[in-house]
Amino acid sequence: MKGSYVLLIQLPEEQTVTIGSLQALHFPGGYYAYVGSAMSGFEARIRRHLRSNKKRHWHIDYLLEKASITGVILYETNDRAECTIAQALDHQFESVPGFGCSDCKCRSHLFFANEASQLVMVIVRIYIHGIAFATASTSLHKIAPARVFLTGAITNDPCPHCS
Ligand SMILES: [Zn+2]
Repeated sequence: MKGSYVLLIQLPEEQTVTIGSLQALHFPGGYYAYVGSAMSGFEARIRRHLRSNKKRHWHIDYLLEKASITGVILYETNDRAECTIAQALDHQFESVPGFGCSDCKCRSHLFFANEASQLVMVIVRIYIHGIAFATASTSLHKIAPARVFLTGAITNDPCPHCS
C-alpha cells in the first residue's frame, strides 16, 4: 500500500527546535499535522517516523525528537497527493513556513492547531468527501478514501498480546 499520509503530532509544551537547513524555529505547544508521501510503501515510512534514535534526515525528524505521533491517516493513491492535501490544510490552518517542502512549491507541509479536534475534523472531511471539499478550487482531483488510525499514542513497541 502506497500513497500520501498525514501524521497527527502532539507537542506537549512549546519548544525551540533547530531544524537542519532551516534556522531555530519556535513551536507553540499544541497539535500539528505533517503531510508526506510514501510512494514505495507506507509501512517502512511510518515505522521510520515512529522510531526514535534515527539519523535525522527530514525536517520532521527534528520535530519528532520533541513531540509524539498521536495519529496516522493514510491516503492510498498512485500519484503523489501530498501537495494537494497540504494546500487544502493551508487554507484553514497556520503553517510553519518552509517546513517539509524543500522539493515543492507549497508554503509548508506542517500545520498547527490548538486542539487536535480541529485538525482531525478537516482531515476526516478529506477522508469522507475527497480533497475537493476542503478547498475552493474545482481543479483538484478527489483523493481516494483514506484509512484513519487515531489512538491515544502510537508507539513502535511490540504488541503485548502478540508476543
Ligand atoms: Zn508540497
